[in-house]
Amino acid sequence: MSAGFLEIRNLVKRYGGAVAVDGASLSIAKGDFLTLLGPSGSGKTTILMAIAGFVKPTEGEIVLSGRNLVPLEPEERDLGIVFQGYALFPHMTVAQNVAFPLELRKWKPDAIAKRVEETLAMVDLTRFADRRPAQLSGGQQQRVALARCLSYQPDLLLLDEPLSALDRQLRARLQDEIKSLHQKVGVTVVNVTHDQDEALSMSTHIAVINRGRIVQYGTPDDIYENPATRFVARFIGRSNVATVERIETKSDGASALIAGQWLPVEPNPAVAGKAALSLRPEMIEIGPLGTDRTDARKVVMDARIENCVYHGGTTALDIRTAIGPLRAEMPTSRLGVRPTAGATVQASWPVRAGRIVSEDDTALDQQ
Ligand code: ADP
Ligand code: MG
Repeated sequence: MSAGFLEIRNLVKRYGGAVAVDGASLSIAKGDFLTLLGPSGSGKTTILMAIAGFVKPTEGEIVLSGRNLVPLEPEERDLGIVFQGYALFPHMTVAQNVAFPLELRKWKPDAIAKRVEETLAMVDLTRFADRRPAQLSGGQQQRVALARCLSYQPDLLLLDEPLSALDRQLRARLQDEIKSLHQKVGVTVVNVTHDQDEALSMSTHIAVINRGRIVQYGTPDDIYENPATRFVARFIGRSNVATVERIETKSDGASALIAGQWLPVEPNPAVAGKAALSLRPEMIEIGPLGTDRTDARKVVMDARIENCVYHGGTTALDIRTAIGPLRAEMPTSRLGVRPTAGATVQASWPVRAGRIVSEDDTALDQQ
C-alpha cells in the first residue's frame, strides 16, 4: 500500500494507567471524508486532538504529506479545526472572523475581501457578514466557524462533533452543507461523531472505534453490509445478533448451529475465533405460512408475532422463532394484511443476508 496523505501509525495515548487510544493506525487519501465513529469515551476526540497537536501521543506517528506532525506545535500544522465550543472571536464581525486567518497569512486586502465574500456565500451567510457571533443562532455560528476554516483552504479539516448541540433539522441541513462543501472544495476531512446516521450519510470512509481501538475501517456500505464484529453490527444500524455455537462446512455449503438449530450460512474466512450471526431487520421477510421451503438460498422458519409497530412507511415486528427473538422491519406496502400479536407467520431471509461476524472485537488484529 502506498503512503496515504495522512498516515497514523500505531497511535497510543495513555493518561497514567488509563489507555485512551490503544494502537490506532489509519491511512487517509487526499480528498477523503473520514469519520471516526464510536461510543462516548472510545477515544475519538483524543485521536483528533493528537492530529491537531493539542494532545501529545504516548507512542506512534502522525504523518501529513510526508511531514512528521508530532514535534510541531498546533499552529505550525496549519490545519482547519471546527470543534464544538471552539469559539469565534466575539468582538469581531462574521466577515472579520472569516478574514482573520487570511490576515495571519498576509493576504492582500482585496484578495481577502474577495475570498471572504466567496466563503460566506458558500455557507449561505452573506447577509450576516456584519453581525457579531452573539447575534447569530448556534447553527449560524457553526457555519461561520466552518467558513473561517474554508477561507484559507487548509490541507486537512478536523471536525469534532460540531453539529451535536444543534436540533435535528438544522443538523441534517448542515450535514448536507458540509457534504456538498466537501465535494465542491475537495478538502480532506477527519470528522468525529457518535451518530451513525451522520457517519453513513456524510463519509467516504468510516473507522469504527471501540475502547481506543479501530475495530473496522471501510466505506459506509461495506461497514453496514459486512460488519466485522458483533459490536460493529450493533453500533451501526440495528441488527439481530445471535451467538453461533458451531459452524460446519460441507461440499454443499456451510451451516451454523444457533440455539440448537442448524441454519445454512455463508462462511466468513475472516472470523477465526468465536462467531455470531448478524441479520439486519430489513432483510427478514414476513409472509403467510406455507410458502415454499425448498429454496436453498433462503432460510425459512415459523415465527410468532409478539409485537407489531406501525411507523408509516415501514412496520417493525418483534417475532419469536426457533433461534430466539428477532426484530423484522418491512415496508408496510409489502406486508399485505397487518399481522396481529399472537399470529403465527413465516419468516424468511436470503442465506447471504445472515453475516457471520466475530463475537469479540478485542481479538481482532489491528490493521
Ligand atoms: P470520545 O471523544 O470518543 O468520547 P475521548 O477521546 O474524549 O473519547 O476519551 C477517551 C478516553 O480517554 C475516555 O475514557 C476519557 O475519559 C479519557 N481521557 C480523555 N482525555 C483525558 C485526560 N485529559 N485525562 C485523563 N483521561 C482522559
Ligand atoms: Mg469526543
